[in-house]
Order: sequence, then structure tokens, then C-alpha cells
Amino acid sequence: MRLESRFKGPQRIPELVWSVIRRFPQAHLFAALTVSLCIVLLLLMPNRLDQDKRQVVEAIELKLSAPSAPAPMPIIPHLQQDSLALRWHSERVRNGDNLSTLFQRANIPTSAIFNLTASPGGEVLGNLYPGERFRIGLDSSNQLRELEYIKSPLMRYIFISQDGGYRTEKRERKAEVLLGFRQGVITDSLYNSAKRAQLPDNIIMEVANIFGWDIDFVFDIREGDRFSLLFEERYLDGEKLDAGDIIAASFTNRGKTFRAVRYQHSDGSTLYYSPEGLSMRKTFLRTPLDIFRITSGFNLRRKHPIHKKIKAHRGVDYAAPRGTPVYAAGKGKVAASGFSKANGNYVFLQHGQTYMTKYLHLHERKVRVGQTVSQRMMIGTVGSTGYSTGPHLHYEFLVHGVHQNPRTVKLPQADPIDAKERERFEQTTKPLLVKLNIYEQASRQATASESGKAYVN
Ligand SMILES: [Zn+2]
Repeated sequence: MRLESRFKGPQRIPELVWSVIRRFPQAHLFAALTVSLCIVLLLLMPNRLDQDKRQVVEAIELKLSAPSAPAPMPIIPHLQQDSLALRWHSERVRNGDNLSTLFQRANIPTSAIFNLTASPGGEVLGNLYPGERFRIGLDSSNQLRELEYIKSPLMRYIFISQDGGYRTEKRERKAEVLLGFRQGVITDSLYNSAKRAQLPDNIIMEVANIFGWDIDFVFDIREGDRFSLLFEERYLDGEKLDAGDIIAASFTNRGKTFRAVRYQHSDGSTLYYSPEGLSMRKTFLRTPLDIFRITSGFNLRRKHPIHKKIKAHRGVDYAAPRGTPVYAAGKGKVAASGFSKANGNYVFLQHGQTYMTKYLHLHERKVRVGQTVSQRMMIGTVGSTGYSTGPHLHYEFLVHGVHQNPRTVKLPQADPIDAKERERFEQTTKPLLVKLNIYEQASRQATASESGKAYVN
């Protein structure tokens, strides 16, 4: 990942535009100014989703503020008059813990356990997961008066002693969902570049899934390819909990830009569409492999080892670690599943009358002849059986029995959005795509000012 600066100074240029903006409250007034301008633009923009607009502005403000020290877990107001007099113990659930082992470790008398688990709602104490936390309050005679079972930052159970037993209260909190933006440039692999853009694994995987139909993340990815993402981030008390779904994204591969936007249908289901309303999901996968597994181990700067001389080459070879899942490129029927000296373990799939796909040198086969398969179903794993010099998938694509180049073959057009949803689609997705665009512009300007500053220094 690099900034797209024309200047390469001695100063180490930070890797991500957005983290730059966030990290420098005063040194980068110009960058901040640009973003402020973009906020003003956003405010002026006609937008039906007032609530949403507010959230975006908040997101920017959050990202501009200096990183704060992790806030302590907020203490729930105590429910008993004398609870301030309690002695409090904190304990974290470890692997294999139950309430009894946890109490013993914390030197808490285990006599209360029966009453706790027998209390209404007490059954939740029967399934503890590593990382969960407890706060345990004991009175002066070492009796357990209050127990807080903190399942997550969003959910906790409180047990309060009453009439010889315990009553239970469940406390749930709602995370605030804000929009986050990241932009990155590929220098080695999608995975590494996205990691440097501080994107969590689930978001990187989603990028590969959204654009994997159009872009071959193994062969087509190039240094200088870029991506921008608008995605949900969940916050609690100003602290980030996790990343949710990608809302809108663009990926520029070798000069061609693909855009995608998430749309929730009237029935609640969600899909990614191009701005024109064509499903991002196509009839055939571009790469019939677990892209995430490959890109995470694949580096553009390493030479891709491909066998060439074994036979007249009619397909494409994907070098991949042994055991990498191989997927059915499209839905269809298993036409062959067997072993031969040359092909090793192989699977052939028939897709309707027109198309056939072939998968060679598999380590394991997971399907039988005659079986129907759905798209992206795992049909085998990458291996090096037959005439093969190393673990790879040999993939062939045939149209009416004639071999075609799987990487360039013209594939059937994707389904457009249902006509009944069209108007609603336009209304809800347009503002998101506009937002993505504005952030991209602002981020680019911030980059420009950043490189200008480096030059002055
Ligand atoms: Zn081959």
C-alpha cells in the first residue's frame, strides 16, 4: 500500500490516507480542512435519509478525534443499598471453565452456585465461553450478594441475592452503527494491502466475494489496483466493537473500475448489485477456488509457479496450497469424478447443455457422478496428483465441447434486479454511491495535500 504521491521523500510516507487523517489532529490541518469541506458538502447534499446523514458526519468526527485510551467497562449502578460495601472480584472465563472452577480460582466459596444456577434465568451460567467476564461481589461475611456475568460488551446478566435465592436481570445495550471508509492501493496482494488499510479479515473476505465474479484475484490483480470501501462499524461508548457489512465499494483493476452496492430487498434479503442494478453474482465464478485462502498466501512479487510442458495446455493453472477448497464454478451436474494417470483425481461438471468445467490434479474428490452441485459448493481440494509438478488446480472451461480460456471467456449476463424493486433500489442505493464517491474524492485530495506537506519538509 502506498500513497499516490508524486513525491517520495526520506520521511516514511504513511500507508493509509484515512489513518493519516485520524492520526494527526494538528499537523494536517489541510487534510482536515478537506474533510470538513466534504462534511459541508454532505450537509448541503439533498438527502432523504436525514438519520443516515447524521451518522456519516458523526463517523467522520469520530475518526478525526484523537485515539482515546480504552474506556473502562462502565459500572452498572448497584442495585442494593449496601452494595458499595461489597468486596468485588473480577475473573475472566478460561478454556474449559465452569462456574465451579472459576469460583475456586478466584477463592470464592462455591456454596452459592446451586442457588445461582437454580434461579430464574440461571441456566445461562451453564454455558461459559472463554473470554467472558464475571464481577463477583461478596459481603463482610463472605456471602455472594451480587454476580455480574458479562457475556459481551452488549449483554450482561446480573444476579442479586434476595430471600435466600437470587433474582436475575438481563441488561442489553445497543451498539451505534456508523459508516467507516477505507481506501487502499494494492502493492503485493489483496490480503496484505487490505491488512495495511486496517481492514479486518471478514471485510477482506467480503471484498473478495463481492468482486470475485468479475476480477480474478489470482491472475488479474496488479500493483496499483485500488479499492474503496464504505462499511458499517459498530461502536459502544465511543469504542469500536467490530466491523459489519460493506455498504458500497469500488475496485479498480488494471484501469477498469467495478462498483458494487448492498441492497436490502423488500423481503429483507440482501445482495450486492452494480450501480446499474445487475447482480454482482454471476452464473460462473471467475476463480473456482477459495480466493481468500489464496490471496492471503499469495504475493504478486513472487513468481507464480506454473507447470507448462506436461501437455498442450487447454486450461489455466492456479498454484495454491494443498488442501485449498475447490468450488463448483456454477450450478450443474457431476459428469465425471475419477482418477487417471495424467489427470490424477479429476472432476468434470456439466452446466446445462452449453457449458462444461473440468478440475484436475485434485488431492481429494468430494462429489460422485450424477450428483447435482450448487455454485460454490466444495467439490474437492487442491493437490498434485497425476502429471503435476506441485500443488495446483488445472481448470478448463468448455463451450459446446470446445475449450475456451476460462479467464477471458464471455460469461452469461448477470440477472438484473427485479422490476418491482427497481425504483426502491434507485432511491436507496444512489445516495450510498454518491457518498462513496465523495469520500474517494476527499481522500484523494487529502493524499495530495499530504504529499505536498512532505515536500515542504
Ligand atoms: Zn495445467
